[in-house]
Amino acid sequence: MSWLQRLREGLSKTRENIAKSVPWNAKSPEEVLEELEYALISADVGVDATQEVIEEVRASGKRDVREALKQALVVQLEPDAFRAKIRKAGFSPNAKKSTVEPAGKVVLMVGVNGVGKTTTIAKLGQYYRIQGRSVMFCAGDTFRAAGGAQLGLWGERLGIPVIQGPEGSDPAALAFDAASSRKARGLDLLLVDTAGRLHTKHNLMEELAKVKRSIAKADPGEPREVWLVLDAVTGQNGLEQAKRFHETAGLTGVIVTKLDGTAKGGILVPIVRELGVPIKFIGVGERADDLQPFDSGEFVEALLG
Ligand code: GDP
Repeated sequence: MSWLQRLREGLSKTRENIAKSVPWNAKSPEEVLEELEYALISADVGVDATQEVIEEVRASGKRDVREALKQALVVQLEPDAFRAKIRKAGFSPNAKKSTVEPAGKVVLMVGVNGVGKTTTIAKLGQYYRIQGRSVMFCAGDTFRAAGGAQLGLWGERLGIPVIQGPEGSDPAALAFDAASSRKARGLDLLLVDTAGRLHTKHNLMEELAKVKRSIAKADPGEPREVWLVLDAVTGQNGLEQAKRFHETAGLTGVIVTKLDGTAKGGILVPIVRELGVPIKFIGVGERADDLQPFDSGEFVEALLG
């Protein structure tokens, strides 16, 4: 199965829901727009973004509502910084807008337990290795014995070195060691796992800030990237979490997992809108290659095509 087919299959719940409720072949575009508004809100695109999209489609004057919609959605799926560029260049479904190339050498991975963070780190390790990078993991979730062990196993399986510490050890000290070791060994990329649950939310956020500072001590300027892993199934609730992580850690990207398990795949729109950071990858299944670099054009094509 090709990459795009897998994406299509992964988004089938959301796609079928939209396809079922929108009469694309209706005589008047207004008839389509009315149902479309409802379908987009049901898919969790959000009221404000839906209104903007509908207005944009209407203003385009295009009779082919589906094509106009694709264009309007691509714009909504990119942070402000990219929007002007897209509008100027015109819509091209395969044009890459934001990039999945990490800006620096260290990526701090954050998110609450159960969203698929550990699996995502393993999949990312594999992705970048296939791109020819040397990768290292840091099993920074020392609060959860299983967390470290799970990443350790992935490392063994993939042949990626893992810096691990004993359960309960200081995650900031471990991250310092990992960042120093990455630098000393001249590896291209270090992916740092972090705890997803502590006794209180405040502790979790404080701990994250500490880990971040400690990486900067070992390797000034890093981590250049902080990526949040979010589970699409949690929908709007996930957004509140995301804002807290953003305030504490300064997110530079989001990875949305489990899009295959929901009809609310439109949640990507409010995520980009509320946080103003790009989506980097999306998870559309449990297999290693079900983590795909996000491309807004491909995404809307798979959703509506
Ligand atoms: P963590 O607690 O955040 O580290 O979560 P894990 O990495 O242990 O993953 C939790 C579960 O989610 C595992 O069963 C994964 O296989 C599953 N998972 C991760 N990403 C996806 C995805 O994109 N789609 C589906 N269906 N399952 C996923």
